Amino acid sequence: MPGKNLSRDEAQQRASILAVDGYQVRLDVTSAPDRAAGTFRSTTTVTFRCSQPGADTFLDLLAPAVRSVTLNGRALDPATAYDGARVHVDGLAAENVLTVEADCAYSRTGEGLHRFVDPVDGETYLYTHYEPADARRVFANFEQPDLKAPFTFTVTAPAAWDVWSNAPHENVDAEGDARTWEFAPTKPISTYLTAVVAGPYHVARDHYRRELADGTALEIPLSAMCRKSLAPHFDADEILGVTKLGLDFFHEQFDYPYPFGKYDQAFVPEYNIGAMENPGCVTFREEFVFRSKVTDAAYEGRANVILHEMAHMWFGDLVTMRWWDDLWLKESFADFMGSYGLIGARTRYSSAWVTFANQRKAWAYRQDQFPTTHPITADIRDLEDAKLNFDGITYAKGASVLKQLVAYVGSEAFFEGARRYFKRHAFGNTELGDLLEVLEETSGRDLRTWAAAWLQTSGVNALTPQVTTDAEGRITELAVLQDGDVLRPHRIAVGLYDRDADGVLVRTGRIELDVAGARTVVAEAVGLPRPALVLLNDDDLTYCKIRFDEESLATLRTGLGDISSELARALAWSAVWNLTRDGLMPARDYVALVLRFAGQEGNIGVLQSLHAQAKTAVDLYADPAWRGEGGRLLADGALRELREAVPGSDHQLAWARFLAQTAGGAEHLGLVRGLLSGSARIDGLEVDQELRWSLWLALAASGQAADEELAAELEADNTASGKHHYTQCLAARPTAEAKAAAWSAVIDSDELPSALVEANTAGFSIPAQRDLTALYAAPYFKLLERVWAERTIEISMRIVGGFFPIAQTDEQTLAEADAWLAGHPEAAPALRRLVLERRDDLARALRAQACDRA
Ligand SMILES: [Zn+2]
Repeated sequence: MPGKNLSRDEAQQRASILAVDGYQVRLDVTSAPDRAAGTFRSTTTVTFRCSQPGADTFLDLLAPAVRSVTLNGRALDPATAYDGARVHVDGLAAENVLTVEADCAYSRTGEGLHRFVDPVDGETYLYTHYEPADARRVFANFEQPDLKAPFTFTVTAPAAWDVWSNAPHENVDAEGDARTWEFAPTKPISTYLTAVVAGPYHVARDHYRRELADGTALEIPLSAMCRKSLAPHFDADEILGVTKLGLDFFHEQFDYPYPFGKYDQAFVPEYNIGAMENPGCVTFREEFVFRSKVTDAAYEGRANVILHEMAHMWFGDLVTMRWWDDLWLKESFADFMGSYGLIGARTRYSSAWVTFANQRKAWAYRQDQFPTTHPITADIRDLEDAKLNFDGITYAKGASVLKQLVAYVGSEAFFEGARRYFKRHAFGNTELGDLLEVLEETSGRDLRTWAAAWLQTSGVNALTPQVTTDAEGRITELAVLQDGDVLRPHRIAVGLYDRDADGVLVRTGRIELDVAGARTVVAEAVGLPRPALVLLNDDDLTYCKIRFDEESLATLRTGLGDISSELARALAWSAVWNLTRDGLMPARDYVALVLRFAGQEGNIGVLQSLHAQAKTAVDLYADPAWRGEGGRLLADGALRELREAVPGSDHQLAWARFLAQTAGGAEHLGLVRGLLSGSARIDGLEVDQELRWSLWLALAASGQAADEELAAELEADNTASGKHHYTQCLAARPTAEAKAAAWSAVIDSDELPSALVEANTAGFSIPAQRDLTALYAAPYFKLLERVWAERTIEISMRIVGGFFPIAQTDEQTLAEADAWLAGHPEAAPALRRLVLERRDDLARALRAQACDRA
């Protein structure tokens, strides 16, 4: 489709001659409950100035039909003006009024205006999601972040519905079966940040009030909503409680009153991402409404996302990147603020930095070692590039580097810089230089060199301690060796750990220093007794992979779980996982560490990541000849820890889920079936609906769930979530027919929403069924270009990632991936990037297997 992929050059050109004064957008979604209706009426009137009268330009619009185009009273023929992606207009005046009337499509993929019908009660729900560029699926606009404008939305919807948008509504008119909601004009915002939520949502309301320094009061109406059928599970008090703590905290830190009036938070179905920071109208995936018991890690994760989105009201919404190259300007900050805020706002999630170090950073390490990695400030040529850059670099590495920046310039200079940045650039657009400018002012330091090393280069450094001792066991030299393509300045702490009288590994010394270049001597360490463990980057100040000297590694093998500090332990776990991924520690050694020490891991989030990693170690990184034994060891370990866990605890639930993921033998599967039927019980373990589906998945994947049994479970849980689990169970059955059906459901039809595409690919791709799925490797590579051309990018990304034959860990599959890459140099760069990354995962698995075999 011509022009569907807007380029940076085109956006720059358009911004150089246009200034937008405002949009009036009218949507009529009264047809939404009628499933046969595929479209809704959308009318945009945009008022804008042009500095070069006579010039031409275009609006972006992805719509099945355009009914009329009127520029300054002159009617244009839609048949010639609209090419399927753009509405072209010529002969611009200095001041212009342009109206486009179109029929836009309801979305099934979460891109644009998504329509969902609740299987429980038949109710219809709508919400929008646009980032980076899907507002054009709902109304005609200049789809780029730096053409900000006030938006005035008017939405006509079924009379029984409520409607929300970024601004509060000013008026509601009833007429027949419909009501028309007129919203106040927004502040100047970017197109991707506009939003509409409509439907018979369940709503909880509250209020936030704050006295400001000038004697006035800031009043923020709060609401939180979800589908009616989820209302019994909706803990709005907890959500709104975190919201209020966050509003207190960010006002204290940012010294700029929340600029968008009210604050609604909608939990919406079939959402593709975690959440979206639409000003005043944040949308979240509704899986954050917990309908069964979840561990505290899930509550912490949700609170983190609430604060992340709230930080965006300032970083991103008030001040916005000029183009997607500087996406990090909002995402790295919001990601950092999610964890920083959990501590600073005095929520109950006091282990937020442990989670960050152990889990969030794992995402960054993985992404940063792909051949496709990029600097935090990226080079984004077009919208497809932009779409793929919502990645581990932009979020987690960027946040890690900001954490390092705080260690480097101090938190006062950092936050004073943020305060100046908001005041100076309110309702505007910025680039890297604008941020460096304020930080240099407040820190008094030259940050260009720092930015060049940290923001404008890619890759992760490894830091390794080198320890020499004298005959009495005293340190004669402790040096920090730095590896990597680019050596960087690191502010780090070095932790020295020894066993105390009770055998616990405690920190006996901490030395903070600047590391630079390939080798840095830690002068303060000379003369100290050689400790059992030298932990570089203790307290997790910098972003690096931690390595160990031999003696420290030996200490971890016998005592990793004995480290008293939760953060230090999480760092050690993360480090041994990186060693495993890098083929420097055999996968079976990592599995042994997990089997030995996971049972004493107190942090529930860390425990859950150990489970996931141990499973990956066996499935992908272990010598194939040892896989069977490794799997049995994990299942035996899961069963043992499940029986020993405190009844009713989060840990017990985590081990029960891990048993479901690893169960293979008769004993384990027998217990799984017993738990489902009620014939077996584990004291304190409630086998609720979500756990039931985990158990069914174990049986289905082992070929021990009858189709009627799965159908009966769906009937008992005929919900959106139930349908998702049921689909995954069907796809997980170990038969050629089941695999063919899952493949076909995704490839041969474009009816499935993203959630069910995911359910099918996940069930299809059970690693232990690699013999059954092997014959899909060749068709996969043949299909890639067609999928990319024909499907939306959200769906394409799920298919390319989800069906990649990652379980075929052999040279032949690697060669097939290489052959595709060599044979398709002209394929879309974003598609090549996805294949390159999965290919790299496969090559990494082969290296790790070689290490495990040796
Ligand atoms: Zn974000």
